[in-house]
Amino acid sequence: MHLRCANCALTSVAILSQPKGGESVFVETLPTGFRSVVTKYGDTFYCEACNRPASGTVA
Ligand SMILES: [Zn+2]
Repeated sequence: MHLRCANCALTSVAILSQPKGGESVFVETLPTGFRSVVTKYGDTFYCEACNRPASGTVA
């Protein structure tokens, strides 16, 4: 998953995995400069510098 902060244009790549039969997605590699935030919809990523949600596109 490619992450991009709309505020500072920081980009990074997060590697996610979803176990078979599981509903939760696990973050295998935390992208540099971003932090993961667990919501009821799953993990989302925030830019650490801007504290804004990053937009993500599935690679
Ligand atoms: Zn940012």
